[in-house]
Amino acid sequence: MDCLFCSIAAGEIPAKTVYEDDLVMAFHDIAPAAPVHILLIPKPHIPSAAALTERDGDLVGHIFAVIARLAKEYELEEGFRVVSNVGALAGQSVPHLHFHLLSGRALAWPPG
Ligand code: 5GP
Ligand code: ZN
Repeated sequence: MDCLFCSIAAGEIPAKTVYEDDLVMAFHDIAPAAPVHILLIPKPHIPSAAALTERDGDLVGHIFAVIARLAKEYELEEGFRVVSNVGALAGQSVPHLHFHLLSGRALAWPPG
């Protein structure tokens, strides 16, 4: 399948990886929107959060455990945001589930 994040997960396209195991990968966003901007993806192809089911509970729980671990590693105790854009209206540009971990500056709310 021709999917950018599947290619990154397979090591076919390089990324600045900060964490990897059998199930997930975390790497720096190529166009950071904040001083810390890390993307977390499941290695299996899932199009977006809209495709998740109860069966993905362990996988999503694992991704959030990795986020918590990275937040400690990057000393983000002042705060951070986790975002997953779903669909065109939310601006999803890569159709493979991913979570943005954003930090290092004040983040406005509500988002634009
Ligand atoms: P979305 O817009 O789908 O929520 O997020 C996709 C993100 O992937 C964007 O923040 C974009 O900068 C990032 N991105 C797109 N292509 C690449 C790439 O080739 N490498 C990396 N590391 N990030 C990418
Ligand atoms: Zn994919």
